This record gives sequence, C-alpha cells and structure tokens, in this order.
Amino acid sequence: MQIGVLTSGGDSPGMNAALRAVVRSAIHKGHQVFGIRRGYVGLIEGGDLMVALQWSDVAGILQKGGTILGSARCQEFRQRPGRLKAAANMLACNLDRLVVIGGDGSLSGAQLLHEEWGGLLAELVESGQVTAELAARHPKLGVVGLPGSIDNDLPGIDVSIGSDTALHRIVEAVDRIFSTADSHQRIFIVEVMGRRCGYLALMSSLATGAEVAILPESPPGPGWENELCEKLACARSSGRKASIVLLAEGARDTQQNPITVSQVKSLLEERLHEEVRVTILGHVQRGGAPTAFDRNQSTILGAAAVDALEQVGDPVLIGLHGNRAVPRPLKDCLNRSLAIDQALAQGHEEQAVELRGPHFVKALQIRRNLGRILPGQSSDKPYRIAVMHAGAPAPGLNMAVRACVRLLVGQGHTVLGIRRGMKGLVEGDISELKWMDVSGWSSPGGAHLGTNRKVLTGHDLYAVARHLEHFQIQGLIIIGGMAAYETAETFRQQEAHYPSFSIPVICIPATIDNNLPGSDFAIGADTALNSIVSVVDRIKQSAVASRRCFVVEVMGRQCGYLALTSALATGAERVYLPEEGIEIERLLKDLRGFASGFQAGRRVGLAIRNECANPLYTTNFIASLFEEEGKDEFDVRQAILGHLQQGGDPTPFDRTLAVRLAAEACQKLLELCAEEQPQSLGVGLQGTWTSFTDLSELGHLLDPSRGRPKKQWWLPLRELMERLAHQE
Ligand code: ADP
Repeated sequence: MQIGVLTSGGDSPGMNAALRAVVRSAIHKGHQVFGIRRGYVGLIEGGDLMVALQWSDVAGILQKGGTILGSARCQEFRQRPGRLKAAANMLACNLDRLVVIGGDGSLSGAQLLHEEWGGLLAELVESGQVTAELAARHPKLGVVGLPGSIDNDLPGIDVSIGSDTALHRIVEAVDRIFSTADSHQRIFIVEVMGRRCGYLALMSSLATGAEVAILPESPPGPGWENELCEKLACARSSGRKASIVLLAEGARDTQQNPITVSQVKSLLEERLHEEVRVTILGHVQRGGAPTAFDRNQSTILGAAAVDALEQVGDPVLIGLHGNRAVPRPLKDCLNRSLAIDQALAQGHEEQAVELRGPHFVKALQIRRNLGRILPGQSSDKPYRIAVMHAGAPAPGLNMAVRACVRLLVGQGHTVLGIRRGMKGLVEGDISELKWMDVSGWSSPGGAHLGTNRKVLTGHDLYAVARHLEHFQIQGLIIIGGMAAYETAETFRQQEAHYPSFSIPVICIPATIDNNLPGSDFAIGADTALNSIVSVVDRIKQSAVASRRCFVVEVMGRQCGYLALTSALATGAERVYLPEEGIEIERLLKDLRGFASGFQAGRRVGLAIRNECANPLYTTNFIASLFEEEGKDEFDVRQAILGHLQQGGDPTPFDRTLAVRLAAEACQKLLELCAEEQPQSLGVGLQGTWTSFTDLSELGHLLDPSRGRPKKQWWLPLRELMERLAHQE
C-alpha cells in the first residue's frame, strides 16, 4: 500500500506518536508512507510537501508536542477545485490510502474527499490530467481518521489525542493558582479551551475541586448571577479561603448569551467586594510534551490505522473504546457531532449531553454532587460508613477519600476516617470526617489518613471487632492495594465468629503497581507512569552527544504494567517483564541488537527492566553485561528510579478515576447497607465501564504465587512496543 498521512486543524500533543506508529507499522508490513506537510495545504500543493518517510524520519519524536508534519487551516480544500488538485497530487504519488489526524473539521474534509473520489478521478481523466489506466488502478480512496483534538469533542470515542495532556496543563495551572489564591483569599476565574465542548472544564473541575464550572452543556438559567454570588459568598463563610471558577471558552447561559471572563469578574467584584483575578490559559493547554497516556493511545491508534487500511470500505474513525482501538463509521461520528452542535444551538442541552455519551452524563452528575459548597439534605436512614487505606501509598488516595466523604456526607450519612491503615483499625484510631475536613484534599499526593502494608492477623481480630461495634460501623470502604482486598476477604471469613464483621466492604483499587483484580487501572498507576516517562525523557536527552545505552529499573513488583507502558511511551527498544522472566539467550540477543543499532548510527539505547523480572539477572548485572560485551560500540549507564514513582501529586487521570470509582463505591455500599447484604466487592474500571467484582472470586482471578491478575489486558501491547522500537 501507499499511504498518505497528514495532521490538520488545531495541533494536539500525541500527533507525533500517532505519526510514528503509522509510519513504522506500515514499513513493518512492507507498505510505503508519504508524510503530507501542513495538512490539506500539502495535498493541494503537492511537490515538496509530500515526502516519503523512512523509519528513522520518525525517530525521537514520541516526546515532542505539536506535529513535525505541521498543520494548517486550508480554505481551498473546502471547495471542490481544491479537492480536485488534492486528488491529482495523490495519484501522482500513487496514493489511495489516507490517514487524517485531526478534529471534526479535518475529518469532514477527509469524508468528503472519499465520497467525491470517483467523480474527481473521472474529471481528471476527462481533462487529460491523469490517464485512465492510472485512475483505474485507484478506484477507491481508503480513509482512516484519528481523533486529534484537545477538546475531546468527537463523540463515539472515549477520549481524543491530546486531551489528557491538555488536562495536565490545566490541572497543574489550577493547582498553582489555588496555592496563591489560598494565601491571598481571592477568587480566581480560569478560562479553559472548549468552544463547543465542555469536556476540559468538566474534567478539570472534578480533578481540582473547583467550586464552580460553567460549560456549554450545562448553561446556568436566568438569575445565575445571584446564584453564583450566593455560592461563592457561602464558600467564603464556610471557611474556604480561595475559590476557583472554571469557565469553558464556549460558556453561555440558557438564553444563549455568552458568559465571558470579564463579565464574571465585574459581577463578582461589584457584588462581593472581593479581589478577583483572571487567568486565560490559552495555548498553554496545547503545548508541551504529551503525557504517557497520549503517547500510548496515539501509538495504539496509529498502528490500528494501518491495519484498517488493508481493506478499503467506508471511512472509519478509530478511537479508544475501553483500552482497545475500535473503528466506527466516520460518517456516523460526524453526524452525531453535528447533532450535538445543533442541540446546543437550539438550547436542548440535555440532548447534547446524552449525545456526548454516558461518560459525560456520569461526570456531569458527579460534578453536580461534588460541586456543592455545603452538605445537602439529611437522610431518612443515615448510615455510619468508615473509610481507610491499606497497602503502599499511591497518588490519588486523598482524592478518593475526599470524594467518599463529600458524596456520603452530602446525602446525610456519617463518615468515619480510620487512620494509619490496619494499625488504626486494630488500635481504634478512628474519628469522624466532616465535610470541611477534606477541603484541599484534591491535589496532594501521599495519604492524609495514613497507610501501611499491614494486614490483619488472628491476634488483631478481637480488637477490630470491638472497634467496629464501638463505632457502630455499618459499611467499610478500603482504598488501597492487595492488602485491602485481603482484608475484605477476612471480613467474610470472620463474620461467623464476630457479628460486627458482618458488614458490606468495598475495595477501591489504588496502587502504582496496577496489579489488582477486576480493574484495568488502579488509582496511582498513571501518576507513576508519567513520573517514569518524564525522568526517562531527561535521561535519554542527557545522552544525545554520546553513544550510550541506559538500563532503567522501574517498580511494579510482580506486575510488568509500569515497565511495559513506560517502554511504549518512551520508545525503549527492550523491556524485561516479570510475566516473561529473563533468559541469558535473550540478553545476548538484545546486546547484539543494541550493538548493531549503534553501528548503524543510533546514539541512545534504552532498556526498561521491572524490579522483579528476574532475581539473578538484576539491573546491575544487565548493565555490566552490556558494558563489558558492548564496550567497543557503546557505553552503558543504569538508573534505578526508586520511590519517586510513588510520590508526586496525582495526575488528572488518577484524580478523575478516584472520583469515579468513589462515586460507584459509595452508591453500591449504600445499596448493600439498605439491603443488609454483608458482601465484599471490588469496584473497578473494565473497558469503558465501571463494574464490581465479588471478592469471594479473588482466588480464581489472581495468580496466587505472583500476586497479580491472571488476565492482564495490557500484555498484548508488548508486541507493538517491540515492533515500533526497532526495525527488523
Ligand atoms: P479541526 O480539524 O481541528 O476541527 P478545522 O475545523 O479548522 O479544524 O478544519 C481543518 C481543515 O479541515 C480546514 O482548514 C479545511 O481545510 C478542512 N475542512 C474543515 N471542514 C471541512 C469541510 N466541511 N469540507 C472540506 N474540508 C473541510
């Protein structure tokens, strides 16, 4: 196949990773790729703007923001004569397959080109610009669209390329603003991108705990000015020193009047007599290195685009659904996008929200509950629910506790915080957590409640039973790692001996190792992954002047998730996983691979090793072996990343995952309490949906000797990682 690839419209971080995957997957399969510079401008002008891309042309671009192909808006392509020129230039390069990475405008253009292809070719033949034989060799145009847009405004996919990175930029900025606003008792208004779609405003409000978020899909009604002022005044009187109002670019009221930053500023200053500061984040949101998630999703999608082009049918949009690349008819997605625009323009916001999909609906619901300044109604049947951690710390634990407290106390229930994990449960270190006790818990990493790896033993049970009874605990949420799941099982085993153990328990998965059953992701793993990736980016950069190979050791215990996903996101050539172990033959083969890479001109090599990949072939051993045997070609350094992987403030993904899982856990726990069902369940994200796993099944789900799930969705990515990292 001869495949053209272009990036068009607004650029988004991750486009380069998608390009790399398209080029390398295609070359791997024996196809040829033409990179088209400056979007549709390149197709129309042809010549130097359409260049054949080789393997090494896309080396070292994974971590770069923007797009190395360049992007542009192109009015001429909107007209048929422009598209006629594009078709002629494509035929000149024998191109009849096209990958377009862009937003809905760019993808509409690609759809149109596909639909008109036959007519355009007939016109070119008729005017003598191309021969009938050439046209006959390319009867159809295969089109694959990849969603490149930071706004995440394309329906039918989980998330678009670049929006995770944009959320990082927003959340980092808002965290900083919060800290200064807090010192000065100010209100800050922060404008974020999203003219037609409030995704960034919505998710960043969940991730930062901003008091107010105004987005196109949820416009405030008449009198909103009074409501806003009352809400912020209440926030101040309830003890909040700072408040943040997040405003999407496209914010408006139900009468379709735009709500602007300056309007809100004047309103708040006049009515509340407070200092109000404004930050318009603008293009900061588009810039910078893509996050690990954006690199990996783009890589998966780029590879899937090449597979999809092997059959020419109607154009498809390939996006992530769950963790898999799923093709859907492009036309349907574009129609749905149009329907959302129309619904918003006509004031049918509910319909627009429905069309955005169930995730958006759910996030909006949670936002409405969490966005309250004070607890809502009291409950007819209030329960006493305890919350605790178990296992090693993971970034995002505080956010999960905050969400549980706000959601439960908000409905009139009492929440008890158990401090210091199992030690606190055994010693009765338990006290009530009120609404304002968790104020400011959105962003910090670590665990304010305290945690450790202790699990309950036979000696502890009597004391635990007494405390459960004394504090009248009717339900328990444990946020943590494997120790949480083991404790939940202990409750079921002990209820026959101790009646106070007969309460429902829900585990929320949180560990950087991502080794828990019933959930594709655990809270904290995304933060650890991003920490690894940003350090490895620097390590690689440090070596560009020398011929150097790095062996980097990452955490994960017996689970290779962090090793593999960081290898995929950093372009490592080799990865060593506990799932596979390490054999000496393989090390020697890898050594020869590195040596021939350096002989061919490579300057940096990278191998990532999970800490438990093999007890004897340690990171030190591998580095020494490579150093000794490869000394004529390259030198070797090792880096053991250690505890920096457990630290740091949680990423937006981990924060919103914490909120989402906490919301599900609270709802389910209340149901179990009402039904008097003493079950132990684990909540998790499986594919796109949240679900519950009965923890009596734990034995079947886990590989007992390894302490990891028997099925791990990410293992097949290993083949993709190797395929793209080095040319056979
Ligand atoms: P995005 O792809 O980010 O939504 P735009 O809407 O600006 O960005 O579209 C980028 C380019 O895609 C436009 O400059 C134009 O060349 C092309 N394009 C957009 N809409 C159409 C359309 N309806 N028909 C043909 N080409 C289009």
